[in-house]
Amino acid sequence: FKFLKELPKVELHAHLNGSLNANSLRDLAEKVYGNTSEEFSQLCARFVNFEKDSNLDKCFEKFAFVHELTSTAEGLQYATELVIRDFANDNIQYLELRTTPKANNNYLRRDYLRIVLDTIKKGREKYPNILVKLLPSINRSEPVAVAEETVALAVEFAKTDPDLVVGIDLSGNPTQGKFTDFSEALNLARKEGLKLVIHCAEIDNTSEIKEMLAFGMSRCGHGTYLSSEDIAQMKAADIPIECCLTSNVKSGTVSSFEEHHLKQLMEADAPKVVCTDDSGVFDTTLTNELLLVAETFNLTRDHCIDLTMEAVKHSFASDEERQQMALKVEHYVNSLK
Ligand code: IMP
Repeated sequence: FKFLKELPKVELHAHLNGSLNANSLRDLAEKVYGNTSEEFSQLCARFVNFEKDSNLDKCFEKFAFVHELTSTAEGLQYATELVIRDFANDNIQYLELRTTPKANNNYLRRDYLRIVLDTIKKGREKYPNILVKLLPSINRSEPVAVAEETVALAVEFAKTDPDLVVGIDLSGNPTQGKFTDFSEALNLARKEGLKLVIHCAEIDNTSEIKEMLAFGMSRCGHGTYLSSEDIAQMKAADIPIECCLTSNVKSGTVSSFEEHHLKQLMEADAPKVVCTDDSGVFDTTLTNELLLVAETFNLTRDHCIDLTMEAVKHSFASDEERQQMALKVEHYVNSLK
């Protein structure tokens, strides 16, 4: 555990509102809403407590609870800071954070992104050991017009902050919405130089998987139901699969850790990265995920270092930033000799 905890890790798949753990939710409620009640603490504990029959829909219901706490500018700002704090405390040296811009009575989508970006920038001083980038998300259960607005904003913000806004994510409940409805907006983002990360094959939907693979992406979220042929295709195109073990098992899309498709990816020597997805909702950390992977598949320290280096390679950081990340890992490993 100590070795993995202190390893300067790289997190490539983390949803902002899913990454607030029970403690951070309590801190958030206390600071922004002055809520210190025992009742609220119990609610937070229930938030990460999964019933045996959990499924994807139940998991998605949990996000509404956090979304309420981040529905003011102050709440969103503090939540972003807490998330950066928690990843920094887990020795994440590089984080690609994704989030769906939202609009309500307190902020517009543009304000939402501005608040998150400004908080990331401010966080550089307070948390100098973690480099954070942003991927605005399209929620596939929302209308296409919202996706178009999100892409337009991402393109605009990427022009002013090219080192910060690096791509677009397609996520949301995979049982809702139709991929092809969003392909035009995604294509526009790609033409404008943004990388695409797509939640693909999270559920068994063969025709959609084919559409997504034909469309292409820079990284694939989950990839649970990819066939061996699909995996071979991903390998040939050097597209990594973002593997989130606890998330997949707790949301019921994978039956056990042992049966996680990461095993198949390792056997096929296909590109993969280990990620948390929603460390708050699923009560995990990247250290825990790597430990879980190591224990489940009998991996050595060297394998864990290789997995971290794969994440460095597939990150959307600049060449120089990736070199720096690799150096940090190397220094850490050398310091143990
Ligand atoms: P947010 O975008 O910061 O609000 O983070 C939470 C949101 O991310 C959820 O409401 C979903 O739209 C999306 N999300 C989080 N985890 C998953 C997942 O495993 N699959 C698909 N979408 C997800």
